[in-house]
Amino acid sequence: MKAKDIGYDVKPPEKSCDDPKCPFHGKLPIRGKILKGIVVSDRMDRSVVVRIDYIHYVTKYERYEKRKSRISAHNPECIDAKKGDRVTIAECRPLSKTKAFVVIEKN
Ligand SMILES: [Zn+2]
Repeated sequence: MKAKDIGYDVKPPEKSCDDPKCPFHGKLPIRGKILKGIVVSDRMDRSVVVRIDYIHYVTKYERYEKRKSRISAHNPECIDAKKGDRVTIAECRPLSKTKAFVVIEKN
């Protein structure tokens, strides 16, 4: 199956899959935020935890502080991100109680 155009400029995965929750081969539209982060857990089936590091400015001290957030994301078989990978994730509809993002690219 040929990968669909997901409306965002990423290179489509080389592999194919039959996951309905895949933005390239299933029917899952992406919309909203696009974030980059590092996979910190790949122990779940077709899910990964992605850590997003960002800096936040504290006005009182006129300095930046590091912050991080952990986001659960769907990991389609054709992408198959592993722990330690740098990935791009895109917001989509809620896929489960904690998942509303999907991995769209390995960097
Ligand atoms: Zn796929």
